[in-house]
Amino acid sequence: MDTSKERILELRRQLNQYAKEYYVNDAPSVPDSEYDRLMNELIELEREHPEYSDPLSPTKRVGGIVLDGFVKVTHDKPMLSMGDVFSYDELKGWAADIQKQVGKVSYSVENKIDGLAMSVRYHDGKFFQAVTRGDGTVGEDVTENVKTIRSIPMEIDCKEDLEVRGEVFMPHASFEKLNEKQKAEGKPLFANPRNAAAGSIRQLDSAVAASRKLDAIFYYVPDAEALGFHKHSESIQWIASLGFHTNPRNRVYSDINDVIAWIDEMAAQRDSLPFPIDGMVLKVDDLALEERLGYTIKTPKWEIAYKFPAEEAMTLLEDIFVTVGRTGRITPNAKLTPVRLAGTSVSAATLHNEDLIKEKDIRIGDMVVVHKAGDIIPEVISSVKEKRDGSQVPYIFPHICPVCGSPLLRLEQEADYYCINADCPARVTSSIAHFASRDAMDIDGLGEKRVEQLHTAGLLNTVEDIYQLKEHREQILSLDKFKDISCNKLLAAIEASKQNSLEKLIYGLGIRQIGAKAAMVLAKHFDTMNRLMEASHEELCQISDIGSITADALIAFFSDEKNRQMIEALEEDGLNMICIKGEIRQSIFTGKTCVLTGTMQKYSRKQAQELLESLGAKVAGSVSAKTDYVIFGEEAGSKLDKARTLGVETMDEEQFLAAVNESLAG
Ligand code: NAD
Repeated sequence: MDTSKERILELRRQLNQYAKEYYVNDAPSVPDSEYDRLMNELIELEREHPEYSDPLSPTKRVGGIVLDGFVKVTHDKPMLSMGDVFSYDELKGWAADIQKQVGKVSYSVENKIDGLAMSVRYHDGKFFQAVTRGDGTVGEDVTENVKTIRSIPMEIDCKEDLEVRGEVFMPHASFEKLNEKQKAEGKPLFANPRNAAAGSIRQLDSAVAASRKLDAIFYYVPDAEALGFHKHSESIQWIASLGFHTNPRNRVYSDINDVIAWIDEMAAQRDSLPFPIDGMVLKVDDLALEERLGYTIKTPKWEIAYKFPAEEAMTLLEDIFVTVGRTGRITPNAKLTPVRLAGTSVSAATLHNEDLIKEKDIRIGDMVVVHKAGDIIPEVISSVKEKRDGSQVPYIFPHICPVCGSPLLRLEQEADYYCINADCPARVTSSIAHFASRDAMDIDGLGEKRVEQLHTAGLLNTVEDIYQLKEHREQILSLDKFKDISCNKLLAAIEASKQNSLEKLIYGLGIRQIGAKAAMVLAKHFDTMNRLMEASHEELCQISDIGSITADALIAFFSDEKNRQMIEALEEDGLNMICIKGEIRQSIFTGKTCVLTGTMQKYSRKQAQELLESLGAKVAGSVSAKTDYVIFGEEAGSKLDKARTLGVETMDEEQFLAAVNESLAG
């Protein structure tokens, strides 16, 4: 048999199997992106080889299957699938084709809700039947289960027979609760809200469906034109007025660029919507054009789905490697064959810990499903057992640190292993990289790789060493990938970081339990590093957001002489130890007019101004008899002279800092 034919038959077999798992068992074994990838391959091959076409091919049929146990109902008008595109170029191409055929049109732009399509019928103003899409021609009567969805009206103010179509879905909140319950009862978890919704609707016991807290949004009126509407969007407004739940995020645009701007907006809001969406749907709004544009055997030509970049994909787990964090925590990671996810290429993903690898039975050589949304760290969520060929090997978790060779320790009740050697090079470099990271001291150019390089060169063994790097310019320049510009930039970023507000430093210290938010709370509460270091357990616990465990961690950190010496050294290096903030505190500067001049060691002009303003001062640009204080740094010019001539009180940097400290302490 020729290889194309073989591949076509194999793809059809695979897609039919996946469709059964998805539509019948509500338990897909592969992510949607994998199904879509294979479907597109099949479409391409069938286009190239029309001689192998088959009306039963998955490319020609609506994917669903009708289950036994439910009464079968034939749809008056088929419930079709939808064509899809995966890029804005393809979407523009689709819109251009429409325009070529029928001229300029408007589109209704709607969320593509990830649930299951439902047809709901009313007779004499009363709900009487709900039917699934099924295979597109025949669906399952799930009236009793749909009745349990509270938002669907049981009576409407419309005497004519009416069919409305929409999506039954499981809101995120219901999905999380359902999976928690499934887990507690030792039952299998649902892969995603869509499968959970479909599984709930096709329960033979409607009490179970009722407990699943489903919802529905309606987006189509098959007889809209016969009911006298000219626009799809108007028919949706009408059903909303009858009491149907419709989507307030629907928009109508005629310019495809406006459509794309709205899709971008929705993509940004995707995670905060109450229901899952996997893309956006465009429908030609003019109902008369539906017939003119027509249908393929499987999809209407007047609507299209734009699918968001996949957040789940399948790829090969080539190997497992562990990394050592700054606290010594050992994290297993998957080395993956690169795969595109949420718009980026992913080649590694976290496996969290040993228990998870065992629980999910993830082996080296497995095909795995990887998930990544937005900025989150990619994670392996399952292995695809059906893809095993016997060559996969279970992973044996190491018992010594891969970096320093010390034995690893796993505390009882904890899922993680730790390297407890405080001098482990991996711990040292990740502590320094954490100190320099964006939410901490934000030293651009001092990422993990650079830190490792400088550490290996013997220039960076502690956080304090960062501020000594300027003394080693020549040596830095001799290192690979360091040029004059990059070295200058790095040293400038290090200098600038000295001015950071206190919370960035607190977070950078990498104290256990102290994330960026807790660091902010502490900085705002104590204002200075000194006061934080001297705080008692009781004092710390009185702060809302700070619990006893966090207080313990802080006390332990600041009781360690090594840490105190580090902070002292950083202060000597000129790091700011004060919280610079917006709210006003009483001080000798409150209500006074101050002028800044010259260059300060510790603060930029902007930071000094913010500090003064936070102490209630008004900062003016020029000196007059009304000025209360002129605060001067190095190379102060005419403003200082004028202040002296007018007899205005002046303060040098040291006096200024002393006054600030006194104000804050008071
Ligand atoms: P589809 O889900 O891609 O699109 C059509 C459906 O979109 C409609 O039936 C309707 O239910 C829904 N929809 C949501 N919002 C809508 C709106 N505003 N207006 C109109 N319709 C709206 O098509 P399909 O044929 O149901 O499913 C195909 C998709 O299912 C595949 O692309 C794949 O992602 C997934 N799938 C996955 C597997 C798997 O094994 N992982 C198997 C089969 C199918």
